[in-house]
Amino acid sequence: MGKIHELDRVLADQIAAGEVIERPASIVKELVENSIDAHSSRVDILVEESGLKEIRIIDNGDGIAADDLAIAFRRHATSKIQHQQDLFRVQTMGFRGEALPSIASVADVTMITSTGQEAGNLIHLKGGELIKQQAASARPGTDITVKDLFYNTPARLKYLKSPRTELSRIVDLVNRLALAEPSIAFSLTHNGRELFRSAGNGNLQQVIAAIYGNSVGEKMLPVEAEDPDFKISGYLSLPEMTRSSRQYMTVTINHRYIYNFQLTKAIIAGYGSKLMVGRYPIVVLDVELDPLLVDVNVHPAKREVRLSKESQLANLISSGVEETISQVNLIPDVGQRA
Ligand code: ADP
Ligand code: MG
Repeated sequence: MGKIHELDRVLADQIAAGEVIERPASIVKELVENSIDAHSSRVDILVEESGLKEIRIIDNGDGIAADDLAIAFRRHATSKIQHQQDLFRVQTMGFRGEALPSIASVADVTMITSTGQEAGNLIHLKGGELIKQQAASARPGTDITVKDLFYNTPARLKYLKSPRTELSRIVDLVNRLALAEPSIAFSLTHNGRELFRSAGNGNLQQVIAAIYGNSVGEKMLPVEAEDPDFKISGYLSLPEMTRSSRQYMTVTINHRYIYNFQLTKAIIAGYGSKLMVGRYPIVVLDVELDPLLVDVNVHPAKREVRLSKESQLANLISSGVEETISQVNLIPDVGQRA
């Protein structure tokens, strides 16, 4: 017999998990993105001990039918794309079909779900093995609980940062998702204490206020700009209201939060000399574009994407920011002196 053999399924899933499931926040990201893809208008995130003890996500989305439930936990099983051409116009947050099997391979997972058309179902897996699947009463939507994260991959567990850091990553992630999706009501609760809540009424300025405070929220300037390929919209802080870190800038592409150095550079360029050295604005910007112009299949966690016409977009952002800010300075501040 030769030396080369195929990996068994659980081991292959664990290796895939290495790419997408680095830490508790990655699990929250994958699961909440699933809730978003399932058209939820409400997503509640409940975390115990920074997610190491338990992560529970409850949504009111489409749910999963009984026949699909076990398949959803198989590798490369997805309802979101089917043909090769779909990969070039992905409209959903997920499409790789890797999150659920990856998470189930490194944790204890129970999902209760209902489509609303039929009675609900429960599935329980641990370490990639099916423990049970049975009918269970459930409200329409999906309620998934992940426990004992990395219990069978001790190296992963060791690599985690302090519980405080892991929690702050979850908070940051939930904030960004709420900024990306102001029409979805998110809540984040840690050890029984509510840390964040967004109303889900579509008002981005309110989400900004919920995250950065009312005094920031009310001073943000709306920005809008478009060219034949891109449409940008969002809010900017005045050059007077800055922070010492770049992390208060959020750029989303078709409502997907991404990291892109060129685009944040373009924002800063739009402020020009109005920003002091080492100071950064508070910005939330969504870019609407044809999915054909963006390749999200670059990075397993899809945090980085590849954009065609990136410099055209960067120019649009810079000029949109510049214009918005210069208009403010034109408005005479008579009111203040009265
Ligand atoms: P992907 O999101 O890439 O399709 P996942 O492993 O994250 O892969 O999920 C597999 C499938 O399970 C999804 O395609 C979807 O059909 C279903 N699913 C997962 N989570 C939910 C949810 N919260 N609500 C409804 N369906 C879900
Ligand atoms: Mg997914």
